[in-house]
Amino acid sequence: MSLLTEEQIKKLKEAGVRYPTVDDKCIWCGACVAISGDDVFDMSDDTGKSEVQALDSYEDKSVDDSIGACPVDAIAWAK
Ligand code: SF4
Repeated sequence: MSLLTEEQIKKLKEAGVRYPTVDDKCIWCGACVAISGDDVFDMSDDTGKSEVQALDSYEDKSVDDSIGACPVDAIAWAK
């Protein structure tokens, strides 16, 4: 689940900026929002899934901690 547009993803990749992804295993528990903040992960009412927000950088956002805390391993760094 992602709110990133294809154009934003392209720019991140060109800049060598890594970004997280959330897959459809998300059970909407809110742990990632509590850890990394709602500027990184958005609890979407529309999808019932956490969605990655568009940022210039995801460093210093405790994404690794969110990955470790997610109970269903739904979060990963994009490859
Ligand atoms: S921690 Fe995992 S299951 Fe919980 S809202 Fe975030 S992505 Fe979804």
